[in-house]
Amino acid sequence: MLITSLSGESNHSMSQVFRSTRVLTADGLGPATLHVEAGRIAAVQSWDSVPANAAPHDFGDLVLLPGLVDSHVHINEPGRTEWEGFVTATMAAASGGVTTLVDMPLNCVPETTDVAALEAKRAAAQGKTWVDWAAWGGVVRGNSAALPALAATGIPGFKCFLIHSGIDGFAWVDESELRLALPHLKAAGLPLLAHAEVAGPVNAATQALNAAGADWRKYSTYLASRPDAAEVEAITLLIQLAEEFDTPIHIVHLATAQALPIIAAARRRGVPITVETCVQYLWFAAEEIADGATEFKCAPPIRSAANREALRAALQSGLIDLVATDHSPCPPDMKRREEGRWDLAWGGIASLGLALPVMHTALANRGFGIAEAASELAEWMSASPARLAGLSARKGALIPGADADFVLFDPDAHWTVAPEHLHFRHKLSPYLGAELLGKVKETWLHGEQIFSAGSFIGQPRGQELLRP
Ligand SMILES: [Zn+2]
Repeated sequence: MLITSLSGESNHSMSQVFRSTRVLTADGLGPATLHVEAGRIAAVQSWDSVPANAAPHDFGDLVLLPGLVDSHVHINEPGRTEWEGFVTATMAAASGGVTTLVDMPLNCVPETTDVAALEAKRAAAQGKTWVDWAAWGGVVRGNSAALPALAATGIPGFKCFLIHSGIDGFAWVDESELRLALPHLKAAGLPLLAHAEVAGPVNAATQALNAAGADWRKYSTYLASRPDAAEVEAITLLIQLAEEFDTPIHIVHLATAQALPIIAAARRRGVPITVETCVQYLWFAAEEIADGATEFKCAPPIRSAANREALRAALQSGLIDLVATDHSPCPPDMKRREEGRWDLAWGGIASLGLALPVMHTALANRGFGIAEAASELAEWMSASPARLAGLSARKGALIPGADADFVLFDPDAHWTVAPEHLHFRHKLSPYLGAELLGKVKETWLHGEQIFSAGSFIGQPRGQELLRP
């Protein structure tokens, strides 16, 4: 179901044929032809199954993957569009092969915690989205009565914090608040996404650091201020609630590998708990972060190289379900780069558009060729987040009935991330200067080209997606 109507000139009435020698289908990477009707995939057939009267789009050997789904993006519009907005966020997405993103309910004003706020967001998005999008609602202190009506709007689920979010208008919840909210989510069949850190260990660590006169320019101070225990304690509670209420809870941006054993044990018991980590936790390591380099600040923090290896292994084994960006930018001055004070800088990493080449490079560095990497990348960054958001019928795989959303990826291109590659609003990112293998050449949405060779094609035609 769509709430925005199709607009602009389009190929929707046309039949189209797309082919490459490396298309990711259910059988893996190989030669195939996509037959597209009215913006949706009608059939996936052999490479030479091109009708006599058709002029195929032949992409040669470029890798053709399903469009990525990023289930964790902060767009910040309305209200803080100077941080990031629909136009720039969705252009960044399109440039990286992301054809669907799901917006977080905070950093915008009003925060998306009731129906009126959602309507304000929908109005703000009108005509500005280059890719398809959906909005998570918010569970905050005191809004449980507003949840049924918000759930009925067709949003895919709800997000909450178990610690101060950094935004006063998005109040964190404790166990008693979660006990009020979860029955509403269960009744609606919607998942709860949770920022899994609790305040106790963070406050205790911060007080101890301040008492000892710690230097807040040092990354080690910031890392010590957000200990693994804050995540483990939060995840322990979330597992308990998911089990007791028998309703799905999703842990966003897992950063500590110390929580993996309790997650594994919960999964073995059949607890409906899913886990995401983010590109930054799989790519960077605390040992490599310079003091004062606050463009790396996020919460939970980027932890040690050994921790990174354990997260990678958990992703590979399927214990971690998906990879998102948690793209969360701010105006550059809020990073307080000159002072370099980690306690004063805004937390959030800007990266939208880079996830596919970064994750591909990480796999290539570990010896995985594109034939193996393609299936995993598509599972972690397209199929699995589509399932989380209830969008699997239309997104996440190149299968008949799905939207013809896909990305053409050159896995052999070497390049270095520079400001001109960043299409989000503020060109400040810890990935600047990263040397990557693999580049997005083209992005297609509903059978229409929206990005090619660094340029955007046409006009914003993305639609809001509602949970079926
Ligand atoms: Zn976030």
